[in-house]
Amino acid sequence: MSTEAPDLVALYTDLHAHPELGFAEVRTAAIVAEALREWGYAVTTGIGGTGVAAVLERGDGPTVLLRADMDGLPVREETGLPYASTATGERGGEQVPTMHACGHDVHVTCLLGAAHALAADDSWAGRLVLVAQPAEELGTGARAMLDDGLYGVTGTPDVVLGQHVAPLPTGVVGLHPGPAFATSDTLRITLHGRGGHGSRPEATVDPVVMAAAVVLRLQTIVAREVGGSDTAVVTVGTLHAGIAPNVIPDDATLQVNVRTYDEHVRTRVLSAIDRIARAEAEASGAPQPPTIEHLDSFAAVVNDPDGCSRTAAALRSGMPGIVVVDPGPVTGSEDVGELATDAGVPCVYWILGGADPAPFAGASGPEDMARVMGGLPSNHSPKFAPVPQPTLDLGVRTLVTAAREWLG
Ligand code: ZN
Ligand code: ZN
Repeated sequence: MSTEAPDLVALYTDLHAHPELGFAEVRTAAIVAEALREWGYAVTTGIGGTGVAAVLERGDGPTVLLRADMDGLPVREETGLPYASTATGERGGEQVPTMHACGHDVHVTCLLGAAHALAADDSWAGRLVLVAQPAEELGTGARAMLDDGLYGVTGTPDVVLGQHVAPLPTGVVGLHPGPAFATSDTLRITLHGRGGHGSRPEATVDPVVMAAAVVLRLQTIVAREVGGSDTAVVTVGTLHAGIAPNVIPDDATLQVNVRTYDEHVRTRVLSAIDRIARAEAEASGAPQPPTIEHLDSFAAVVNDPDGCSRTAAALRSGMPGIVVVDPGPVTGSEDVGELATDAGVPCVYWILGGADPAPFAGASGPEDMARVMGGLPSNHSPKFAPVPQPTLDLGVRTLVTAAREWLG
């Protein structure tokens, strides 16, 4: 077994320059598998497509799962960094630019750094399980690994631990007990009109106007149908219709993304979208009702409150320089929760600060901090650029400290 620790920055910049889309993380998975084999882990590849699971066993003790996601996004990088991605990937039959715009390269690098540190540390007992998961951005990677028998290979964990990098200052860890990441639902609504000449609208049913009415009316769901103490976000992220200015098209298609924390609120919002799309089509005299497809759904990530207190205490005492805060629930979504829900065990998933702390220097209190954060490129932005250090070192130590707390 090699004892040489990985060069985290070199590993990170290499992964960053070579992002791969969900279920196409072939190169990334190979890097992960090779390193873990070298350090003595029992490695299984190809779980749920490109997923990798690794086990290191040290006698009797709890089974602790550390998870990192591997996929990049179909985003053209605009960071201008020397290690910026110029890679492309295949999405929907087309080559598209790809970027690690969500920081999953940070997660993979930290998982490997922690893997090396924990393999070199013989003071713990139990079973350490590392999961490099595909396709988090598609919301289906965790499910794919579970359906492909992940826990048959690794054993069922007693706890699921993981982290997500975000534009909080480095040295800050955000941990929220309870529903921490929102449920996300994506719908595609195709509004059917009747196309024709742009000069003769009376002979058509214009799906562009129908779509405009739907988009505006959808804004009333959060304003008028969701209670003041509940949270929901309804975003129309795409709207496509027509190709020529003098032709009224047959159809218009919109994709709607919904974030909620509560199942009752979720049901209410989804049924309101369905009702509004149908009613606006009817109001426009559409020749047929709209086609409404549910494209994907992420369950909420519900952090175990006792698990959070235990982990936060371990981080505070084991890493005196860092600040553990409760950032409240975030409207981002994650499929890590499925790994815990499937096993019926606690999930503890935290946010790892990855932003240069300089702009936060004068910030006093959470509101001020949120204001500074709002001015920085966020996850999924083409300019999202975590600072490699000390983010990577802190991400490794956070994983190791949390894992050591839960291992025997
Ligand atoms: Zn993301
Ligand atoms: Zn992400």
